Amino acid sequence: MDFKEYVSFLNSDLTVLKGVGDKKSALFAKIGVHNVWDLIYNFPRDYEDRRAFKKIGQLVSGDMCCILVTPIKKLAEKRIKRNISLFSLILDDGTGIINAKWFSSPKYRQNIDYGEPYVFYGRCIYGYDRLEFEVKSMEKYGKGTGTGVILPVYRLVSGLSQTAVRLAVGEALKGIDRLKDALPDYIVNRYGLFDIDTAVRTLHNPSDIENLSKARARLAFEELFVLQLSLMFLKNRRTSYDGIVFKNVKCAEDMNNIFPFELTDGQKSAVRDICRDFKSGRCMNRLLQGDVGSGKTAVAACAMYVAYKNGFQSAIMAPTEILAVQHYNTLTKFFGEYGIKIALLTGGAKGKKQTLEDIKEGRYDIVVGTHALIEGKVEFKSLGLCITDEQHRFGVNQRAKLSQKGTQPHVLVMSATPIPRTLSLILYGDLDISFIKSLPKGRQSIDTFCVNTSYHERLYDFVKKQLDDGGQCYVVCPLVEQSDSLDVQSGTELEEYLRLEVFSDYRVDLLHGKMKPQQKDEVMEKFKNHETDLLVSTTVIEVGVDVPNANIMVIENAERFGLSQLHQLRGRVGRGTRKSYCVLVTDSKSEETKQRMDIMCATNDGFLVAQKDLELRGCGEFFGTRQHGLPELKVANLFTDTEVLVMAKEASENVLDTDPNLESDDISLVRGRIQKLYAQYENFNIFN
Ligand code: ADP
Ligand code: MG
Repeated sequence: MDFKEYVSFLNSDLTVLKGVGDKKSALFAKIGVHNVWDLIYNFPRDYEDRRAFKKIGQLVSGDMCCILVTPIKKLAEKRIKRNISLFSLILDDGTGIINAKWFSSPKYRQNIDYGEPYVFYGRCIYGYDRLEFEVKSMEKYGKGTGTGVILPVYRLVSGLSQTAVRLAVGEALKGIDRLKDALPDYIVNRYGLFDIDTAVRTLHNPSDIENLSKARARLAFEELFVLQLSLMFLKNRRTSYDGIVFKNVKCAEDMNNIFPFELTDGQKSAVRDICRDFKSGRCMNRLLQGDVGSGKTAVAACAMYVAYKNGFQSAIMAPTEILAVQHYNTLTKFFGEYGIKIALLTGGAKGKKQTLEDIKEGRYDIVVGTHALIEGKVEFKSLGLCITDEQHRFGVNQRAKLSQKGTQPHVLVMSATPIPRTLSLILYGDLDISFIKSLPKGRQSIDTFCVNTSYHERLYDFVKKQLDDGGQCYVVCPLVEQSDSLDVQSGTELEEYLRLEVFSDYRVDLLHGKMKPQQKDEVMEKFKNHETDLLVSTTVIEVGVDVPNANIMVIENAERFGLSQLHQLRGRVGRGTRKSYCVLVTDSKSEETKQRMDIMCATNDGFLVAQKDLELRGCGEFFGTRQHGLPELKVANLFTDTEVLVMAKEASENVLDTDPNLESDDISLVRGRIQKLYAQYENFNIFN
């Protein structure tokens, strides 16, 4: 098989494989497997270890194992539903006898040769009054391939069986002599990795657990290596340039007079870090982490002020219109009287053409915006500082695009998603990190309660008391429009009910994701100015929104939100000096919901919440693309594969040391992988 044939085989439709026709191939497509390559890289989600053999006489309840037996008698074959029958037999192996049973369609009745040796695989359970064997598979001794081995378990769709997938994978692997390694030999050897052919074959067909974990490690390495290398490549490209030097950083002290409050120690130290970078002659590349409400915006404002004083423009990008408008208003309030010109650039903003012209001519010092900031037509005169707020909402690509608007501007990214430090050091490579550990003085912890819907009346009375006291309330519900499939409270309906029936003496308003940006701003502005007492909202208020007078939040259908999201939501209250409350309403009885609610009620600490979130959900979801703005990982696990991660980091550094542009031949397949990864992930040509 020459290279051309090899590539063409991998790209072929599954129908080239023996036993796969159009029908099966359509089923495979449903699990995302479209060609031979996909099939080979569709790794098992689990394994069944069928190597252990036991004697009937030794079986205890709970054993999953094989038994070598002779079926001696048929016990029953009973139809229990139209197409399900219960089968049972008596098995004997000389050490004892046991009843075996299984359910299956009467179509699949097995013709058993009584008296012949068989291997049965299954689970031993305690039945009515004695042990029984629940059969998962059986085969004539010495005839089959389903016992005595570790069997892969694949993701399925209805109509597609494990056996069908296993056979197809087998055919695919038979069709290839050897898989070509994307990793250069010297890396494979240096880290003692399996070559790709061995690794892939082992994953589909492991001989023992040790080899299986080596095979997994190899694939995890490859994945992390490709990711690391691409991130470092992007970063190197930026840091290989000299940074702009802001000579005057003493001016940061002016901010003491500009802010109506004194900065916290955490904020001060973050500002110091930033000023040190500004002076250093190196391009700043800093992550600012701080829990919700810790005052990251004020730190950003200081940084932008220093840039302004040094004659440079700044840009700050936020994930939503509401947030961009809020930043615009905050900054205007701080800086308006100091002659600093601030522009707002969102998708819907009016007079955009003139604004763009003015930005390009340098008539604005600070530009606040949404994704609209990174559009092609936005140009700056002298962009010296780029800030991304709630960075986890943006991809690598989008951040890169923003800084490409200037000539190596300083970069600050801000996040309330707490990533463990060791991990962020690796994930973000040479990113420097500042933490704001404490909240501004005077903040009180937010009392959090969890109730079921039977408490609504009492809850509403409590809310009224808060409103009478001059506070304001958010009521959050998961969806805006009535949905057939989801039994969730509709925002529109809820708002109507609350406005007309429960809170008719109060000013009630509604905010949802489907509104026009301008409408949203109006609603938010009114709430901020306390022209509204109670705001019913979907999760559009999830990130960043700051209304210090709001002090109570009711979250309906709280079970529908993840822990970190609940914490983000709760962060909308407790931002002023009012005693604040968060009430989680749910009728869910699930254990998992209960755990989540308990954690919310027990702590206000974002890092702790994130930690628990990780424990409950596993890192797959926590580190889904939305959380960190990185491509999804299939095999690697950022928490358990730390050793592999360290190796991948070292290998990436070594490669970039000798080949900073990733141009050498032995890395060309990896380069292709990187290209594909980013192209798939956000349509981004990384080598451009
Ligand atoms: P986040 O870190 O969640 O983005 P914000 O920047 O929105 O937090 O700040 C939250 C609130 O705290 C704002 O109302 C802000 O004005 C206020 N704030 C920020 N820093 C201080 C401070 N040092 N002292 C008192 N209030 C502050
Ligand atoms: Mg914020």
